[in-house]
Amino acid sequence: MVETDEKGGHDSGWMSEIYLEYISHAINNVKAVIEETKGEYSVIVTADHGGHDRVHGTDIREDMIIPMFFYGQGFTPGKAPDGISILDIAPTVADIMKIPAAKEWEGKSVLG
Ligand SMILES: [Zn+2]
Repeated sequence: MVETDEKGGHDSGWMSEIYLEYISHAINNVKAVIEETKGEYSVIVTADHGGHDRVHGTDIREDMIIPMFFYGQGFTPGKAPDGISILDIAPTVADIMKIPAAKEWEGKSVLG
């Protein structure tokens, strides 16, 4: 079961043992998708917020930092781009799809 926010974070606390079990299930699901698609697709996994204790929504670091995983052609395994932001997601997807990024987007593609 994958309910990282409600069951993992709010019910059990961010970074608790139970929370980390939910994260492990989520990662296993992503691995299954990657294995099933045999590398045919690019996969981007992220979140809209972090959390602390049993809450989120403040401006402390634990609430503001999010995971970002990129898998697929054009991404370098083991490389973590510096200064990456959630603003970089849309330009990266546009780059993968070989379509132009919107002028008003502030982020940049992280495709290597
Ligand atoms: Zn929540």
